Amino acid sequence: MNLVDELAAWPSERVTGMIADMQPRHVEAALHREERTLPDLAALLSPHARAFLEPMAREAQRITRRQFGRVVNLYAPIYLSNACTADCLYCGFAAQSGMRQRRVTLEADAIRAECRALAEHGFQSVLLLTGEAPKMTPLSYLEDAVAIAREYFASVSIEMFAMDADAYRALCERGLDGVTLYMETYHRPTYEQVHRAGGKRDYEYRLDALERAGLAGARRLNLGALLGLFDCGVEAFWMAVHARHLQKACWQSAVAISFPRLRNTPPRFGIPAPVNDADLVQLVLALRLFLPECGFSLSTRESASFRDALFPLGVTMMSAGSSTRPGGYATYGDETLEQFEIQDSRSPEEVVAAIREAGYDPVWKDFDHAFFLG
Ligand code: SF4
Repeated sequence: MNLVDELAAWPSERVTGMIADMQPRHVEAALHREERTLPDLAALLSPHARAFLEPMAREAQRITRRQFGRVVNLYAPIYLSNACTADCLYCGFAAQSGMRQRRVTLEADAIRAECRALAEHGFQSVLLLTGEAPKMTPLSYLEDAVAIAREYFASVSIEMFAMDADAYRALCERGLDGVTLYMETYHRPTYEQVHRAGGKRDYEYRLDALERAGLAGARRLNLGALLGLFDCGVEAFWMAVHARHLQKACWQSAVAISFPRLRNTPPRFGIPAPVNDADLVQLVLALRLFLPECGFSLSTRESASFRDALFPLGVTMMSAGSSTRPGGYATYGDETLEQFEIQDSRSPEEVVAAIREAGYDPVWKDFDHAFFLG
């Protein structure tokens, strides 16, 4: 069954109703099962699960250590461009966001300078990002950018607009190994409201993009919803359906989930369904219990103290020392338009020290999945 049909079986009313119907006994039963079902996940996402956060945290920690050991993989984003012709209401890069700072697209020399600056900190994994401006960043540009980044890093992923299978294949041939692509919201009416212009308006093309990438050779697939656009419990349920689908359809790829939470938005956009810290903790724990083998990523959108509290409970990847501006590490400083304001502004060295302090190993180069998935 394709993903569109799988999700069609779980409309928001059905998921909301299932979550609302769950009782404490369902939460307890879900906690004690080794393999959990979608109704178990609904129980763990329900209001009654709030009284069980401590046992959920213990179980999440046990599962995470069993699956991943005591390690946190570190990566850094490199923004290649902040040009964008799309109009997503929540984003500072949107063509109509009203943000006036400088827009640039890095040339090869600047990409090298950014890579060098991050490699000097010890990073071996990077995420290359652009807006949606195919004339400024055509496939040939992206192929060259991936090839340059591979000169410096063992692992190169992208977070960009949805592409066709041939484009993903071409990028994999230049050394790409991962694709991050957030659906933003799986709730189609909300999706249509917040994506006003650009190729991103095509819901189904975006929904299928990670599967195309996996089948084209990307060995790491990272999905997520932009938390704050719609009810976060329902989005978490849909993310789980998406993750399970990808694990089956792209069995040679490692599937991971990110938890980007909307915080500061452009002045024209208020956050429709704000997510507080307790909501986010419950969601991470519930998904960890349902998806033991998925990597979980938490970016510098979250504060230092929140990230430090959460990584022992299920998070396996963290960005560090991030800039969300093109050229932000070595080329333009803070002259260029940033996508969003980061909350954890610690240096990579400070993040490493905090991870060690908690008894975990920071890992710069994560080859585990590459080895056993071949
Ligand atoms: S979310 Fe992406 S496509 Fe949408 S405006 Fe921002 S950069 Fe452009």
